[in-house]
Amino acid sequence: MTAAAELLIVEDEPKIAAAMRDWLAAAGYAIRLSDSGDGVVEAVRAQPPDLLLLDVMLPGEDGLSICRRVREFSDLPIILVTARVEEIDRLLGLDLGADDYVCKPFSLRELGARVRALLRRTRPAARPPADGDDGIVLDTDRFEVRIGGRALALTPVEFRLLRRLMEKPGKVYSRGQLLDASYEDHRVVSDRTVDSHIRNLRRKFGEIGRDPIASVYGVGFRFEIGRDE
Ligand code: CA
Repeated sequence: MTAAAELLIVEDEPKIAAAMRDWLAAAGYAIRLSDSGDGVVEAVRAQPPDLLLLDVMLPGEDGLSICRRVREFSDLPIILVTARVEEIDRLLGLDLGADDYVCKPFSLRELGARVRALLRRTRPAARPPADGDDGIVLDTDRFEVRIGGRALALTPVEFRLLRRLMEKPGKVYSRGQLLDASYEDHRVVSDRTVDSHIRNLRRKFGEIGRDPIASVYGVGFRFEIGRDE
C-alpha cells in the first residue's frame, strides 16, 4: 500500500481553498494549503508534493512565475487555476509547462477527475484509496491519519515520524533517520525519544485494532500495512 498522494493547493480565496481542501481530502488525498504565492517555490523544493494546484492570481508571487520557477528544477504535475476562460489560450501560448488548466468556477467533481487523471499519468504507483478501501491517508493539514475510515489525531512529531515511515513501506528506518524527519529545530533529543513516540503511535493504532509499525531489533522501525490484518 502506498501513501496517499499529497497535493499542494495554492489559493488565496478562503472559501474556494476550503472547498477544494475538503473535497480532495475526502477523496483520499493528503492536502497542504498556501494562501499566498510567497514561499511556494521554496516549499515545493524543500518538500515536493505529488501535485501542485496553482491559482494564477495570488498575493505575493503570482502563479505564472511560480510555475516557471518550479519547472526549472521539477517536473511534478501542475494544474493552473484561472479566473477567466479566455486566459487559458494566453497561458497555453506562454508555454509555462503546466500539465493542465482549470477555469473558475469549476465543479469539484471535475477538478477531482483532472487530479486523478494527472496523477494516474505521472505517478502510476500511487492511487487515492477508493471508497471502502482500507487505505491509510495522512492529512497534513490536520495532523491526522485516517485508516479504514477511522481518524487518529497525532502530535506534529508523531505525524512527521509516521510520514517518514510511510514514504517507503517495508523499508527499515534507523532511529537517527526518524529523528531527522521528526524535529525541525535540531533540538538535542535522544534515541529513546523516538522509542517513546513510536510507543505512542502504536498505542493510537492499537486503539483501532491496528499494528502497522514493526520494530526491527538493533536497527529501527518499519511501516508495513497489511502485517496487522
Ligand atoms: Ca486568486
